[in-house]
Amino acid sequence: MSSERTHDVAVVGLGAMGSAAAFELSRRGIDVIGFDRFSPPHAFGSSHGDSRIIREAYFEHPVYVPMVQRAFDLWRELERLSETMLLEQTGGLMIGVPGSALVEGARHSAEVHGLQYSMLSADDICARFPVLNPDSDMVGVWEPRAGILSPEACVTVQLEQARMRGAILKFDEPVSHWLADGSHIGVVTGLGRYRARQMIVSAGAWVASLLPGIHLPFRVERQVLHWFAPIGNAHLFTPENCPIHLWQFDGDRFFYGFPDKGRGVKVAFHHGGESTAVDDVRREVAMSEVDDVRTAVRRFVPATDGRILASVVCLYTNTPDEHFWIDRHPGHSNILVASPCSGHGFKFAPVIGEILGDLVEKKRPRFDLGLFRWR
Ligand SMILES: Cc1cc2nc3c(=O)[nH]c(=O)nc-3n(C[C@H](O)[C@H](O)[C@H](O)COP(=O)(O)OP(=O)(O)OC[C@H]3O[C@@H](n4cnc5c(N)ncnc54)[C@H](O)[C@@H]3O)c2cc1C
Repeated sequence: MSSERTHDVAVVGLGAMGSAAAFELSRRGIDVIGFDRFSPPHAFGSSHGDSRIIREAYFEHPVYVPMVQRAFDLWRELERLSETMLLEQTGGLMIGVPGSALVEGARHSAEVHGLQYSMLSADDICARFPVLNPDSDMVGVWEPRAGILSPEACVTVQLEQARMRGAILKFDEPVSHWLADGSHIGVVTGLGRYRARQMIVSAGAWVASLLPGIHLPFRVERQVLHWFAPIGNAHLFTPENCPIHLWQFDGDRFFYGFPDKGRGVKVAFHHGGESTAVDDVRREVAMSEVDDVRTAVRRFVPATDGRILASVVCLYTNTPDEHFWIDRHPGHSNILVASPCSGHGFKFAPVIGEILGDLVEKKRPRFDLGLFRWR
């Protein structure tokens, strides 16, 4: 069904970033229409799988720290508004050999921003968290604020809160293309045509299909999440006893894990997945992939070397430098692009929503976005 009305902003893609943007814009009194090709939250993009890590001593770059600090506040605010628990604080450990990018990056961010943290030796880690089994030459950066977000609940709540404030949200209505028409954008779906003054493209792994005619160096990477049954000592995997843990090992391999939130112990590799076309993703998981992650489980979290309970495929949208991409379209200043978050964006969703709100309102965002510009 087409609409004669001209909306202030059309949001294309209502996953983590789009739902955050729809909420933020609608609470500023901006007239929003949003579209998704599925019914979010769903399991075809990048925002499913029960849990996402939020951490403050950001090894990727200190510039993310003020943003994640704001995100902590915004997630808590969303919890209050929705009366829903979204974030569980567990503390976090970044583990690797001294000098590794993970350990040194986390320590550097903590130092630059004066964060609370402590350095733990391998013995300290084993004594404090008996489920973790670092190599003897590894160390850990412990940060107390880290924790777990529930991605499906976060997306649901952001969409509900947006709707309550007047946003029109259309599910199962993919945008096929758009037309720039002077100062307006015509948004075309299989069901109709819509008009908006500005558009946000937050289509995650599909983002390139909505930005034809320009070179985008993004790579969609298939990632697999696995849930294992703990063997014995299940209480050691409760959130009180098992913080989120992220490991760098054998050079530049990354592995991470969570406490058991009731569905088993979730573990995964960070990166190292195959490149994929977004509409042709290999959704089945081979036993060799389970065996591969089990090798890391046996080495670093041996008490969860039980039955494999589930394996689920999810998608990263990577930029070449693995920093985010949040900017205006180079040819159309009324189009904003905000999605390629290189496998570490979820925790920032509400602050990215706030940044998009500022850009829509032509206000200067309070964060340094230099790393995220079109490049
Ligand atoms: C396995 C895995 C683990 C991760 N772990 C973490 C973590 O621990 N911490 C962290 O911070 N981040 C993590 N991330 C990254 C984070 O989850 C992503 O950065 C974030 O979810 C991306 O959100 P998005 O809104 O860009 O994409 P999505 O949430 O996938 O949303 C994109 C939406 O666009 C819709 N869409 C696509 N095309 C169209 C169209 N043509 N018309 C309308 N709608 C369209 C899709 O249906 C989808 O709903 C992880 C990602 C994965 C895959």
